[in-house]
Amino acid sequence: MSVPLAVVAADSQLSLEENRKRTDQRLKRPRVYEKIQAFFRDMADGVISPILRLKTNKSLCNLQCQHCCEEPYMERDLIARTGKPDPRRQMDLADYADLSRQADEYGIFRFVLTGGEAMLDKNFEPLVAALNPDRHLIILDTNGWHFDEKKVNWFASLGGYKAQISLDSYYEAEHDAFRNRKGSYKKAMRSIEATKRGGMELLISTCIVKGRVFSREFQELVDFCDANEIPLYVTLAKPVGSAREHDEWICTKEDVDRLKELEDRHNVFTHMTPSYGMPGRCITVKGINTINHDGEVVPCPYMDLSIGNLNDLPLAEILGRGMRNKWLGPYRDECIIGEHPEFIKFHNDVVSKHLDTNPLLPVPYEDGFGLTGQI
Ligand code: SF4
Repeated sequence: MSVPLAVVAADSQLSLEENRKRTDQRLKRPRVYEKIQAFFRDMADGVISPILRLKTNKSLCNLQCQHCCEEPYMERDLIARTGKPDPRRQMDLADYADLSRQADEYGIFRFVLTGGEAMLDKNFEPLVAALNPDRHLIILDTNGWHFDEKKVNWFASLGGYKAQISLDSYYEAEHDAFRNRKGSYKKAMRSIEATKRGGMELLISTCIVKGRVFSREFQELVDFCDANEIPLYVTLAKPVGSAREHDEWICTKEDVDRLKELEDRHNVFTHMTPSYGMPGRCITVKGINTINHDGEVVPCPYMDLSIGNLNDLPLAEILGRGMRNKWLGPYRDECIIGEHPEFIKFHNDVVSKHLDTNPLLPVPYEDGFGLTGQI
C-alpha cells in the first residue's frame, strides 16, 4: 500500500544533532544505519519504521504516579480489582528474540523498554541480548530510582543506546508528591547526572497538565535542560489510566500553542514534533506501537485497543492491517484520542463495554478496531 507523504527527508534537512547520531551508528551499528538509510529512501512510498515500545514484567513499578496511564495494566491493580493475577500467556525471552528478528526484517531500528519501571525486570540483561542491540537502538524509559552510575555503565555495556528519565516537576516537593514517594526527585536527578557523565544519549521526559507550560517551574525546567544540553520530551496528560477522572488536567489549545513556541526556541519536543525528516502528525501505527506483556500490539500510547496479538499473527501482518484501518492508517494533523469526538466516543464505548465482562486490557482486535472500516 502506498501512503502519500509530503515531506521527503534528505541529509541536508537533518539537524546537526541527527546527523551526528546517524554518523555514529554507521560505525557502531552498521545494520541500524542501513535500516535508517532504507527508511529515508522509501518513506515517501509509504514505508514505515515505527518505534516498538515494550511493556515488560507485567508493568511492575516501584512508584505510583498521580496520572499514570499504566496502572490498569499492572498486576497490582488487577489483583486489587479481581483478586487474581493476569491469566494470559506472557511473552518470554524466546518471543522477544523472535520479535527482534521480525522487526529487523521489517526495517525497524528502535525498541523502547518501558513498564512500569523496566529496571525492575530481573530478566533485563537477557532481554536486551534477545533484542539484539547490534541491530537495534535499545532505549530505556526509567524513573531513575535504580538507575545510578553503576547501572548506567552496565546498561551501556549491554549495548544500551539511550536513557529517557522522567521528571514531573523541577521542584523536589512537587515531584515527590506527584510520584507518591519521597526521595524520587533526588534519585531522578542523580540518574540524569550519571547518564550525562557516562556519555550515554539522554533525554528528560515530563508530563504536562493544563497550565503547567505557563508556570515558573516549567520555565526553570526548560532552562535547566538548556544549560545542560538535555532534550526535553513533553507528553500531554490524557484522560486515561489513573487520570481518567481528571478532566481538569487536560491541556487546552493555549497550552499547546505555548508549547509550540517553546519548541521553536528550545530543544523541547513531543511525539508529534517533526523528527527524522517526518512531518509532525498523529503517529498511530507509523510512529510508536506498544507491545503489551501478553503480545497485544497497541497503535498509540494512550489507546486501550489492540491491532493484533504477536502470538497469533506475524508483526508485519499486524502493522499492515493497522495501516489499512480507517482511523489509524491515514496521516492526520490531529490527535484522534485527544481531539476527535467520534473516535474518542468509539474508543471509550468499546473499552467500557469490554470492561463490563473482562478486566484485562487492551481490548483484542476482534472486539475493537476489527469492527471498524478499512481503507
Ligand atoms: S492519537 Fe494522539 S496520542 Fe495517539 S498517536 Fe495520535 S497524536 Fe499521538
